[in-house]
Amino acid sequence: MIANYGYKDGSGEYFISIDNDKCDGCGDCVKFCPYNVLEVGEDENDPFREVFVARVREEHRKKIKYSCAPCKPVRGRVELPCVAACKPLAISHSW
Ligand code: SF4
Ligand code: SF4
Repeated sequence: MIANYGYKDGSGEYFISIDNDKCDGCGDCVKFCPYNVLEVGEDENDPFREVFVARVREEHRKKIKYSCAPCKPVRGRVELPCVAACKPLAISHSW
């Protein structure tokens, strides 16, 4: 199941999506995120699942556009650290 964290407003849609079927809870994205946006914990969509998964920390979910902004320069954008770190390709961003 895909877990979407974020919101949309008048300027666009700002979601980080984590494919919980691909995520193995390795924590590499957490390690490489320079702004402490991510965490590994219980699968909120499936609390009985034994494997932990990556999630966006609660405090960033309503301001994710701003939390991730330093990783997303308008020009010269490079691959996002969280996306680059995820070997199973479980993370994607909507913007
Ligand atoms: S884009 Fe940057 S700040 Fe946002 S989750 Fe990924 S690594 Fe962290
Ligand atoms: S790097 Fe990928 S597989 Fe590992 S915890 Fe993060 S989202 Fe899950």
